[in-house]
Amino acid sequence: MALFEKMDNLGADKPEQQNKTGEITDVEKTRVLIVGSGPAGYTAAIYAARANLKPMLYEGLQPGGQLTTTTEVENFPGYPEGVTGPEMMEDLKKQAARFGTDIRFGMATKADLSKRPFKITIDDNKIIETESLIIATGATAKYLGLEDEKKYSGSGVSACATCDGFFYKGKDVAVVGGGDTACEEATYLAGIVNKVYMIVRRDVLRASKVMQERVFNTPNIEILWEHQTKGLFGDGVVEGALLVKKKGTPEEEEVKLKIDGFFLAIGHKPNSDIFKDYLETDEVGYIKTQPGSTKTNVPGVFACGDVQDTTYRQAVTAAGTGCMAAIDAERWLAENS
Ligand code: FAD
Ligand code: NAP
Repeated sequence: MALFEKMDNLGADKPEQQNKTGEITDVEKTRVLIVGSGPAGYTAAIYAARANLKPMLYEGLQPGGQLTTTTEVENFPGYPEGVTGPEMMEDLKKQAARFGTDIRFGMATKADLSKRPFKITIDDNKIIETESLIIATGATAKYLGLEDEKKYSGSGVSACATCDGFFYKGKDVAVVGGGDTACEEATYLAGIVNKVYMIVRRDVLRASKVMQERVFNTPNIEILWEHQTKGLFGDGVVEGALLVKKKGTPEEEEVKLKIDGFFLAIGHKPNSDIFKDYLETDEVGYIKTQPGSTKTNVPGVFACGDVQDTTYRQAVTAAGTGCMAAIDAERWLAENS
């Protein structure tokens, strides 16, 4: 069977009922459902499949997760020469499929975790009843919340330099943010465009030292310290940004920056909304897990990767907690089945 073909329902019972009325009657059962296909989801799948739990995994709208939007990954162990994000995620997918994970394209749109089996609705037209649930839904890029971001969406505003950088060849662009993502996006863009401005709201970068050094050593990146974005302007497409320098101080001033592309790199929001009626989260939405484990406040529901990680948010830590979630689920099923 070709790896990326839709696979038979390994590990799942066949649908119980056919559609008769408006309600969802397409119901399948499984022992372990994994939601998400980033490093956390696939690693959980590898461990659960090797433990003969025949896991079912839904990939969501971004198969492979966040790393599919990046170029080189240099810090994941086992790749001495580095690897591209998409390649690494293909490898993880193959490894999960090799041991019999039932990998499916689809989005979990609703969750009922009030009792076992948990009921997860997929694409609003199918229900998966599962004895245990591993949530590996990661995180999504944040926007500043400006009306202009919507107005110029796809016309100069982007949250993915590797996806859209090519369109700005030889032009001037801005990257908003001062973390690792912003530094990485700025460095990547600097190799394509004429000039990159980094719009940084403080007078320091949050990024790791190695990423900061790369930015400082790239001649066509200019950091605009203590600048915030007020709006964007342009006739149909972005032609510039209106910035405020040193906002709220006596030296406050408005700055007009001529740019063709405006890249957001200000962090991510955990994808936990559909679970929030049942699971404890922090104020941002990160799912709370018991220290040293992936257990949530609902027995039988486990969370791994960025959706529960307020601190590290790395591919290797996502993979590590994916491993933990599968082992936690396996032990929980052994004690509770
Ligand atoms: P994600 O990778 O975010 O994947 C989440 C998955 O859940 C996706 O497959 C999505 O489709 C799915 N999903 C979400 N909601 C649903 C739903 N409702 N139903 C079904 N599926 C759903 N880390 C490093 O260690 N090294 C790096 O070099 C590095 N570079 C990075 C570069 C960029 C541009 C970015 C943004 C991040 C980078 N990171 C890097 C961080 C790393 O990508 C993340 O820590 C890691 O991907 C988190 O893995 P995850 O499995 O938790 O979630
Ligand atoms: P992050 O570390 O949370 O940084 C977000 C940046 O955006 C910060 O500089 C923040 O400013 C700024 N910001 C947030 N909201 C803003 C707003 N409204 N206006 C202006 N600026 C705003 O997020 P990230 O850079 O996406 O990184 C997430 C995780 O992935 C991190 O753990 C990181 O190490 C990891 N990652 C690793 C790599 C790598 O290792 N190669 C690459 C990318 C990401 P303040 O600093 O002022 O808060």
